[in-house]
Amino acid sequence: MKPAKFEYVAPVTVAAAVEALLAASGEGKVLAGGQSLLPLLNFRMTRPAVLVDLNGIKELSFIELRDDYVAIGALTRHREIEQSPLIASKLPVMAAAMRHVAHLAIRNRGTIGGSLSHADPAAELPMLSLFYGASLLVQGPSGRRIIAAEDFFVDALTNCLKPEEIVVEIDFPILQQNGWAFEEVARRFGDFALASIAVSVRRGASTIEDARVAVMGVADTPLRLKEVEGQLRGIAIDDQMPDRFSELVTSSVSANGDLHASAEYRQHLLGQLARRAMQTALASEGDRR
Ligand SMILES: Cc1cc2nc3c(=O)[nH]c(=O)nc-3n(C[C@H](O)[C@H](O)[C@H](O)COP(=O)(O)OP(=O)(O)OC[C@H]3O[C@@H](n4cnc5c(N)ncnc54)[C@H](O)[C@@H]3O)c2cc1C
Repeated sequence: MKPAKFEYVAPVTVAAAVEALLAASGEGKVLAGGQSLLPLLNFRMTRPAVLVDLNGIKELSFIELRDDYVAIGALTRHREIEQSPLIASKLPVMAAAMRHVAHLAIRNRGTIGGSLSHADPAAELPMLSLFYGASLLVQGPSGRRIIAAEDFFVDALTNCLKPEEIVVEIDFPILQQNGWAFEEVARRFGDFALASIAVSVRRGASTIEDARVAVMGVADTPLRLKEVEGQLRGIAIDDQMPDRFSELVTSSVSANGDLHASAEYRQHLLGQLARRAMQTALASEGDRR
């Protein structure tokens, strides 16, 4: 199929892009990498009157270290994140997850701002934004505001942006950790995840001092498991730890089923992935930040 007719504009500043969205009175849509939007246009599942192409806005593409966080411009391509030495050293869980994001051709075009805004519950970057406790910097007609990742994802494929707002930057705090893991199962490598988990721990001499846990593919949005994180704090590290962690994760999540996998299978997968992730996180050597 072909898209319904639309007007195309290609601004070179964020302010001009916001202005174009405002002028479209709710009938505008932003185009980033086009990897999710173009199929929706072609199937006429969305029919914007105006398409606002962000690709000419150079200021939206960057990866920068700033104090204790890494700032990523919304138009930064998945492949740039995957190949960035800065991401590998400061956000290693993200670096490990990026090669699971779709296939190479899609990673060459797809952007982090597009992935977060599309809000697919089985997509890696939305889950990573929760995992790291990221903040999204958003620009609209009345200026810029910051949205915490945990407030951004409202439902499957639904975010909290107003129609005239554009994500311009995402800030990822650097975690103090000395063990981490990212585990995922998809039907084929590069497909959307059936289930996935990200874990990081700060290990003391014999206990877990701090932990981060997030999962995806099992609910309508990605989930950060703060209760599980709390239960891990201060817990003794021993051989039973991966099994206990698996139980904690599966008892705090009730997986969804769909045409790709039943709820029971996803729940089982999550338990297996959690066990494997904790084994890896506890086996990691040294500070791998
Ligand atoms: C076959 C296939 C497999 C895939 N597998 C995976 C996978 O395994 N994991 C995964 O994470 N992703 C996967 N994807 C999705 C891919 O990562 C997309 O790149 C991503 O979802 C959308 O990014 P984009 O830059 O292409 O956004 P676009 O398609 O251009 O836009 C997507 C949506 O976000 C909005 N938008 C874009 N940028 C902004 C912005 N800065 N501010 C506000 N709104 C914005 C658009 O208006 C649109 O509604 C897959 C895609 C395909 C086609």
